[in-house]
Amino acid sequence: MNWTKAALARLAAEVRENELKANPYQRICPYDLADLYGVAVYTLQGLADSGCPPEAIEFFTSVRPEAWSAALVPNGTGQFIVENDVHTHRRRRSNIAHEMAHLLLEHEFDRILFTNGKRGCANPASKEMETQAAELSGELLLPAAAARRAAVYGLSDDQVAERFDVSAEFARWRLNVTGARRIASRTARKKGG
Ligand SMILES: [Zn+2]
Repeated sequence: MNWTKAALARLAAEVRENELKANPYQRICPYDLADLYGVAVYTLQGLADSGCPPEAIEFFTSVRPEAWSAALVPNGTGQFIVENDVHTHRRRRSNIAHEMAHLLLEHEFDRILFTNGKRGCANPASKEMETQAAELSGELLLPAAAARRAAVYGLSDDQVAERFDVSAEFARWRLNVTGARRIASRTARKKGG
C-alpha cells in the first residue's frame, strides 16, 4: 500500500489517541502499544525464562548479539518481538516502536526483520516498507506537531529527547525531518523583523 507522510501521521495520531489515550504532545510507551496489540516482547537475556520457542533462542544467540537491536518474528498468523536488552533504554524504545510500525502497517514479509540500532531494519523486506516504518515510528514517538511546538519554544535536542524519552539523535532527526527547526527559525526571523 502507498502511504503518504500525511497518512502515516494520521495513523500515528489515531493509534496514539485511541489506543494509548495520548495527545500529540505526550510521551507514549511503545511497550504498552505492543501489549495492546497482543504482541509478546521477549528480551534476549530472558528468552528461556519467558517461554520463547527453543528454535528462536538458538537462532538469536547464534546471530551475533551485538549486531542487532530487535527483531520482528512471524509466528503463525501473528508476530512477536525479541529485543536485545543490553542496549540503552531509549534505543530499545525506538526499536520497539519501529517493529510495531511494521506491524501497524500490516507489512507482509518472508523473513525475521532485524533492526541494528540505526533506526531501521538491517535486512528490510523492501525499501518502501522500511521508509514507511521509520516515518511511522517517528510519528509515534515524537509527532511532527510536538516537534514543531518544541522548536518554537526553543527547546534543545537534549530537552526534547528528555521529554519524549528518545535519544538525542532521534530527537535531532525528528526536529529536522519534520521541518520543525526550519519553521521555528523562520517564525523567529519574522517576529524579529
Ligand atoms: Zn524496519
